[in-house]
Amino acid sequence: MNDLRRVCFFCNKEIEEKKTLEHIIPNSLLGRLRIKEETITGRKESQYSRIKVPAHSSCNSEFGSEYENKVLELLDDLDALYEAIKSEEPGILMMYGPGQSVSEIITTWLSKIYYGLFYYDLISTQDEEWRDICSFVVSGKNFEYVRTSYKNGHGFQLPSSLYVFKTSNTNTDLVTLVDPSSILLKIGSLTLILCICDGYLTKNYLNGETLERLRKWVRQEDERDTRFPSHKLALGEIVALRSCIPKTPKFISSENQIINMSLSTMVANPDEYYRIDEQAISDARVEILREFNIELGS
Ligand SMILES: [Zn+2]
Repeated sequence: MNDLRRVCFFCNKEIEEKKTLEHIIPNSLLGRLRIKEETITGRKESQYSRIKVPAHSSCNSEFGSEYENKVLELLDDLDALYEAIKSEEPGILMMYGPGQSVSEIITTWLSKIYYGLFYYDLISTQDEEWRDICSFVVSGKNFEYVRTSYKNGHGFQLPSSLYVFKTSNTNTDLVTLVDPSSILLKIGSLTLILCICDGYLTKNYLNGETLERLRKWVRQEDERDTRFPSHKLALGEIVALRSCIPKTPKFISSENQIINMSLSTMVANPDEYYRIDEQAISDARVEILREFNIELGS
C-alpha cells in the first residue's frame, strides 16, 4: 500500500511537492464554536483541531474557495440555513451536480468531514481493529466515486439524503457511523444529518409529512427536557429506517459523471416489493437508541 501520508485526500494522487495539511473542521469554525479543545468520541480520542489530512496545496485551496468559505458564510445564520435546506427538500434530483444549491454545498462539506475523519484515523490510529474499519471506509468504492465526482466538478459527494433539525439545546455534537454510513453534526441549535452515499434511498421514504412528523417528535422531546439529546433521536430514527430499506444504493460511472441507479427498479410492483417491515424498523430503533444510551420517556 502507498504511504497514505503522501497521498492527497482530495484527488488520490501522490504528493511530490511540500504537502499541506487540510483541517477537517476549519479552525475558524472551531474557534467560533469553542470546541477547539474538546475530544471526539470513538476508539481514538482526538482534539478537533488536530484532525488534518494530507493534500496538495492546489486541491486544498480549491476546496476552500469552492466550498468551505461558502459553508462558513452559511453557518453565520443558522436559522436561514435551516430554512434554505428545508425549502430544497421537495423532489429528488435524478441528475446531480455541478450545482451550487445550499444542500449540495452542505452535502459536499459533510462528506468531506466524514471521509476526512476516517482518513485521518487510518493514518494515525494504533488500534488494529479500528484501522481495519477505517481502511474499509477509505478503500471502498463509494469514496473512490466521491473523489471522481469531485474531480468532475460535481462536488465531493455522491447523492446522499440530507436532513436538518432544530433544537433549543445548543450543545455541539459530532457522530459518525460506519454502517449505515452516516454523519451527524450539531452546531448550536442546528442539527445536520447526512446519509452518506445512500443514493437518496432514505429520502425516498422519509420526506414530506413523514419528515414533518419526525421533526415534531424531536421538537416535543427537546421541549420536554432540553438536556435530552433529541438530535440523536432523529439520527436513530433515520438510521433505523435506512437499515430496513430493502434496497441497496447503486452507482455507475460513465464518462464524466457518476449516475445514481439506486431509485430505478425492474420489479412490477415496487410499492409492495420495497415495503418496509414495521416490526423490523421498530426493533432497529430500539437497538440503535440503546447504542446511543437513549431512553425514551413514556
Ligand atoms: Zn490533490
